[in-house]
Amino acid sequence: MSTTIFDKIIAKEIPAEIVYEDELSLAFKDINPQAPVHLLIIPKRRIATINDIEENDRELVGHLYIVAARLAQQFGFAKDGYRVVMNCNEDGGQSVYHIHLHLLAGVTMGWPPFANNRPKQVG
Ligand code: 5GP
Repeated sequence: MSTTIFDKIIAKEIPAEIVYEDELSLAFKDINPQAPVHLLIIPKRRIATINDIEENDRELVGHLYIVAARLAQQFGFAKDGYRVVMNCNEDGGQSVYHIHLHLLAGVTMGWPPFANNRPKQVG
């Protein structure tokens, strides 16, 4: 399984603005922020996409959400609100194939999250 830039961030081989770390996960500022606060929360063990999450990853994936909620408290935007997103594959906008939560805050967000694109027939 090939590695990504996130493995280098986990190994501290390239710099990142790390805001949280524990034995299972790492959170750091996105290099190209899409909101006043844009953090990425990643598992230290690589899972490529949501499609690759297995039963025994439940705890790890759940942990990422617990970290997101803790960071929202710590950064002071839990009450105002925020968005947590995990993109999957090309249509989902995934560019790094190591699952990660985007934690976005500091602005009132719109919905839906796509613009000017014609929906495909799916399902
Ligand atoms: P995706 O497009 O896969 O959902 O999100 C990948 C995110 O990783 C993007 O928002 C992108 O800006 C961020 N990113 C890519 N390379 C780096 C990097 O080297 N450092 C940091 N901090 N963020 C990165």
